[in-house]
Amino acid sequence: MMQTHFLLTQNDMPTRWYNAQADLPTPLPPAIHPATLQPVTPADLELIFPRELILQEVSTERYIDIPAEVQEILRLWRPTPLIRAVRLEKALGTPAKIFYKHEGVSPVGSHKPNTAVAQAYYNKIAGIERLSTETGAGQWGSALAMACSFFEMACKVYMVKVSYQQKPYRRSLMRLFGAEVTPSPSNETEAGRAILARDPESTGSLGMAISEAVEVAMKDPGVNYALGSVLNHVLMHQTIIGEETIKQLDLAGVAPDVVIGCVGGGSNFGGLALPFFRQNVQDGATTRLVAVEPAACPTMTKGIYAFDYGDTARMAPVVKMDTLGHEFVPAGIHAGGLRYHGVSPLLAALHRQGFITPVAYPQNDVFEAATIFARSEGIIPAPESSHAIRAAIDEALEAKERGEERVIVFGLSGHGHFDLSAYDLYLEGKLTDYAYPEEMIHQALDKLPKVAL
Ligand SMILES: *Cc1c(COP(=O)(O)O)cnc(C)c1O
Repeated sequence: MMQTHFLLTQNDMPTRWYNAQADLPTPLPPAIHPATLQPVTPADLELIFPRELILQEVSTERYIDIPAEVQEILRLWRPTPLIRAVRLEKALGTPAKIFYKHEGVSPVGSHKPNTAVAQAYYNKIAGIERLSTETGAGQWGSALAMACSFFEMACKVYMVKVSYQQKPYRRSLMRLFGAEVTPSPSNETEAGRAILARDPESTGSLGMAISEAVEVAMKDPGVNYALGSVLNHVLMHQTIIGEETIKQLDLAGVAPDVVIGCVGGGSNFGGLALPFFRQNVQDGATTRLVAVEPAACPTMTKGIYAFDYGDTARMAPVVKMDTLGHEFVPAGIHAGGLRYHGVSPLLAALHRQGFITPVAYPQNDVFEAATIFARSEGIIPAPESSHAIRAAIDEALEAKERGEERVIVFGLSGHGHFDLSAYDLYLEGKLTDYAYPEEMIHQALDKLPKVAL
């Protein structure tokens, strides 16, 4: 019988995170204060983050221990399975071996709790009683709501309005965990009111929702802000994905030729790929690392590498990253979690140094891949994750053409049980592919801050 599941026991769960900043050829540029345009100080950040996470954000230690209290919660669903997609291989007629790391088995259905639990924990021990955040598709909000309920903290979520309307059940899930959910842009914050004054019909964006959530945390010392992606400490918390995958590929007796993940802010891709980046720089491995994004929000494939604001209202720190401009509002594609104008500065640096290869796909191609995957493997993938599936399928088809036994690993960052209305639209042929929004991106890129570094 062919083995398809590569399982670790709970005792095999990694007990430390990998910090890729230790292995960067050149250190990351500093984060910049959005008002002064000078490097941010730890005191600036302490308005919204606990000290322990700020230290992790700038750390160059290669490994950081996962606190026992965090490990205990992660063990509710970790280690997650690595599965060989044998039926998908057959459906494609490819000689390639396709493996996927299934993060959709977490209680809320994605990789996001890996960092939500850690962030809630560090805030809790710093005496914070309430966290404020944004959510796109609702995955991050669900994860943080669950983590806050585990640590008996309050949770306020600004949910991008288009997703709030498309995904009412994500909203319900957050409320079940005790969170308060508001569609963004809202009338509750200065940032939200300013956006609505300019565009009352605004469907929202992650950049706008971040502005609202940060504002709330800045104004109240008892409230901190939590970000579900982009930041160094978030990607570090997610490296447990790649560390497990390395052990599981050992069990399978293979070495990967290519590791693929979808990229919004970059946390699931970073979490999966960064430990393989370490093998590339330390052990001379040559694994290709492929980052997949939507053609409607082509941050890495079409953006520029520059300092930009992390949010629309220019309250979040300015960081050097691949960006489409903080005023760029992507079309309302169904992979809501990938609608961010920027990307993790760590991944942007690795991209510009040639360690990461980005590709972009329009959403109909992505849903086609999702449907092939669902019909062969039986799992309905999140639209975000389906970007990785599209790239994995294309790799497998290329391997078939060339007669290569390529080993392909992709991250299944979440399941799509809350995305069925998008699948309905796809099946009815009503899903729109948006053209590359060149003019909008040009306009947004004119508004970058002038940082003297
Ligand atoms: C949030 C989310 C993403 C995108 O965020 P990253 O930080 O880029 O990983 C991708 N897939 C799923 C299932 C998500 O919930």
